[in-house]
Amino acid sequence: MRTEDLDHPAVRFDRVTKRYGDRTVLDGLDLEVGQGERVTLIGPSGSGKTTILRLLMTLERVTDGVILVDGEPFSHMPGAGGRLVPANERHLAVRRRRIGMVFQQFNLFPHMSVLENIVEAPVHVLGESREEAERRARDLLDLVGLGDRAGARPTRLSGGQQQRVAIARALAMRPGILLLDEVTSALDPELVAEVLDVLRDIARSTDITLLCVTHEMGFARDVSDRILMFDRGRIVESGPADELLESPTHERTRAFLGSVR
Ligand code: ADP
Repeated sequence: MRTEDLDHPAVRFDRVTKRYGDRTVLDGLDLEVGQGERVTLIGPSGSGKTTILRLLMTLERVTDGVILVDGEPFSHMPGAGGRLVPANERHLAVRRRRIGMVFQQFNLFPHMSVLENIVEAPVHVLGESREEAERRARDLLDLVGLGDRAGARPTRLSGGQQQRVAIARALAMRPGILLLDEVTSALDPELVAEVLDVLRDIARSTDITLLCVTHEMGFARDVSDRILMFDRGRIVESGPADELLESPTHERTRAFLGSVR
């Protein structure tokens, strides 16, 4: 990361609107995530949380407003006369390298070993040498507690282990920002803790910025500095994790927390 990037929020949504046809999913949303901050989005299904992650993964385009990453236009780029114009594919491809993502479904390549899964993108996308990528992959496997499974096929691993490999694979791309989309939802309850432990470790031992979506309030409390409560594409309440979960001030937040506990 360049030092000047640290002066800017990691992520900033500036009056972002996202519509699908007549349906407005995000409505003039302002959102800031600081460098190294851990933020979790909670709220009822359909409130727009995943759309925020999908916009950052460039899987969707904004209808209106601008997204900035490290203070630089992300959804847009400077056009003629310095005016911002919607980003082209090349701009998006370059800028999205800052961002890693872990999904509910791990999507590991079944025909490759665990190590090969992690090495693939750093070698082919970042142009790292195989030697360097493998060295780093082994360090990351140690970090997620799977140093002894480098040669295994993903299908030989439990769901929790596969998700830990997916986390290592995302980190191998050296993202400054990691998006976590319901990463424990597909796991059997007894496997959730090991994934949470790894994420807590990463939060403790790195300065990565985390932006998470989850239905699990324990996860939200454990991993985040700040929680944002969403409803119908707007932030209804925002605060430190413990505070918002223990003593929410908005009726909508109280009702939501009552329904998920
Ligand atoms: P959440 O993550 O809070 O459950 P989402 O961001 O997934 O909410 O979805 C917000 C709303 O946007 C939902 O009502 C959903 O149906 C709608 N939506 C999401 N993707 C599309 C799409 N490709 N086309 C039309 N509507 C969509």
